[in-house]
Amino acid sequence: MSKINYRFFMITIVVAVLVGGMFLYKDFSDFCDASVPIFAYHRIEDANDIYSVPPKEFDAQMAYLHGQGYTSMTLYEYAMARKKHEKLHKKMVLIFDDGYRDNLTNAAPILQKYGYKGSIFLAVKFDGWPGYLDWDSDLKLLKYGWEIGSHTYNHKPLTTLTPAQVDYELIKSKEYIQGLYYPPGGPTL
Ligand SMILES: [Zn+2]
Repeated sequence: MSKINYRFFMITIVVAVLVGGMFLYKDFSDFCDASVPIFAYHRIEDANDIYSVPPKEFDAQMAYLHGQGYTSMTLYEYAMARKKHEKLHKKMVLIFDDGYRDNLTNAAPILQKYGYKGSIFLAVKFDGWPGYLDWDSDLKLLKYGWEIGSHTYNHKPLTTLTPAQVDYELIKSKEYIQGLYYPPGGPTL
């Protein structure tokens, strides 16, 4: 290969790597704008099981995300933003399953500290049971800016149920949650 051909060959390789890198970076940055991490929690308390995160550790996780510039959105806000093809740079969703009381006593004040809000999905049958939220504490979470959604009524896996049983799980839990958002006598929010 002559000297000029060699130089041309090397320049072509360098340009190809740079252009390829730019496309990869663009892909990555588009991916970041379109993707939102969803962090799923259950209990926020000092218990030694896989469903619990100690409040101190939870606080440290939120502090880290806050330090990295993340802001939170509810699952509903996320769904709406996706529909409108909005850019979702450094957005995240924090979801909480089942409806544990510590979500109000431990998680909500920590989230408030960082300007975050949670999306909680109640297994409605448990509302009012010991260790779980109840009607009044559900309303308090709404006042914290949290979103409340359904995690079924009986907390049964929907794929194991008949269509009629699935309807029951969805309708019964929806009625209860709608009552929180629109209680008789007008909204309390
Ligand atoms: Zn669950």
